[in-house]
Amino acid sequence: MVREATKTVLKAILGEKDFLNDLDDKIGDGDHGSNMAGGVLAAKEALAELEGDDLKEILQAIGAAITANVGGSAGYLYGAAISEAANVIDEKSALDAATLEKVFSAAVEAIQKRGGAERGDKTMLDVLIPIRDAFSAENCAGKTLEDILTEARDAARDGYEFAKTIAAKKGRATSLKKKSVGFEDPGAASSLIIFRTLCAIWKDSLRE
Ligand code: ADP
Ligand code: MG
Repeated sequence: MVREATKTVLKAILGEKDFLNDLDDKIGDGDHGSNMAGGVLAAKEALAELEGDDLKEILQAIGAAITANVGGSAGYLYGAAISEAANVIDEKSALDAATLEKVFSAAVEAIQKRGGAERGDKTMLDVLIPIRDAFSAENCAGKTLEDILTEARDAARDGYEFAKTIAAKKGRATSLKKKSVGFEDPGAASSLIIFRTLCAIWKDSLRE
């Protein structure tokens, strides 16, 4: 399940390579799709060298491969986010909202520790922080996992739309100042693509 889900996510990223490069062309240097495609290649190689279906091992291998092989802010930040997410998983972790909160908290923290960005700076965090918050214990009380996933997916989309309306305060687009308003953030777009794909796989598995 984890291996197949990972492959589906990688395929989805690859399918949006040109779209992500086009977004980055408008407010950056046009390489976000290519950086993400480099990440997909590194992840595929890491996956091929690994046996089994263990979430922690798969995330560890992919995080390390991305950090070692992928350039740009995306390689650095996603690589760290995936590696630190792997660290919070143990044998007792179930695939539930509590684990998702831990995983997304670790990922957000890893990105903030390295890039110093907050919500509202027009980065991937404008998508990832709302996802993390949707999985918080207080938000999840009394809801089914399916409803929580729907909420998280909607929060991710709202975060992506919000990032479009603001000026960049972190990353390459900062130099554009107010001229970046009205353009989508490429990293927010890749985070949304990854999360949407994960949600679709997860919801399907809940119905089986
Ligand atoms: P680069 O900016 O080095 O060309 P990419 O184009 O691959 O790298 O990635 C750009 C994306 O990285 C941005 O759209 C933004 O979402 C994200 N990003 C850049 N700087 C930061 C930061 N300090 N914190 C969080 N995300 C960031
Ligand atoms: Mg770029």
